[in-house]
Amino acid sequence: MTNSQPLRDCTALVTGSSRGIGRAIALELAAAGAEVVVNYARSAEAAAAVVAAIEHRGGRAYSLQGDVSQEAEAMALVNGALERSGRLDVLVNNAGITRDGLLMRMKTPDWQAVIDLNLSGVFYCTRAVTRPMVRQKGGRIVNITSIVGLMGNAGQANYAAAKAGVIGLTRSSAKELASRGITVNAVAPGFIATDMTKDLDKEALLKMIPMGCWGQPEHVAGAVRFLATDPAAAYITGQVLQVDGGLH
Ligand code: NAP
Repeated sequence: MTNSQPLRDCTALVTGSSRGIGRAIALELAAAGAEVVVNYARSAEAAAAVVAAIEHRGGRAYSLQGDVSQEAEAMALVNGALERSGRLDVLVNNAGITRDGLLMRMKTPDWQAVIDLNLSGVFYCTRAVTRPMVRQKGGRIVNITSIVGLMGNAGQANYAAAKAGVIGLTRSSAKELASRGITVNAVAPGFIATDMTKDLDKEALLKMIPMGCWGQPEHVAGAVRFLATDPAAAYITGQVLQVDGGLH
């Protein structure tokens, strides 16, 4: 018999879950039984709609604002979730942005903004949950990287550097935290249809994808659910799971 709600005693914090992939992850973890903390930076209404959708399906959720590229806000977010829920079992570091441009012309603020959120934000949240997870004697951390972090991409030096950094951070924290019962894994999506990719030439990029279609946020959410679930993924740590239709 399979357990349809393997996360029913868990609280999961999903950064950047007002839209796109984070939203799908929030819905998926709530369907698995977790109480979900829906984090957002600016889209309060969209975050409230995610909470409402989860509650409509019989799940548990609440939203918390916080810009996780800012150290103090990332810490306040984790502390706010701990205060309200009393525990944190799953952290999904999903929040991310792009500021694309060719290297020669890339402005330093565009480099910095991407590193600050896509890499440092992952570090701030991961560090903040480590102590409570050690106290709880277990936890699951899933970092959303990108296949661009594995293969590079012209026009995305900042994004690729941050996402490659997330892979190094994932592998290192997995080694540090394994003995504490905390697993740390990464999911590397290919092209997924969200606001982030809405201006890309979908038809042109399709030729690169062996499966012949773009990914949906739900495809990524399924992989995150697997990595967050006990005992299915209990012995997996430090891995990068690609969800890319065979692209890389
Ligand atoms: P998206 O549709 O643009 O959504 C981004 C989410 O991040 C929103 O919920 C946004 O919240 C939140 N966010 C932005 N800045 C934030 C900040 N400073 N603090 C907290 N939250 C913040 O992006 P997506 O496509 O779902 O991407 C989600 C993750 O997947 C990112 O890490 C991205 O790099 C990665 N990824 C995406 C693709 C793809 O093809 N889409 C491929 C590979 C990897 P607000 O609504 O409040 O702004």
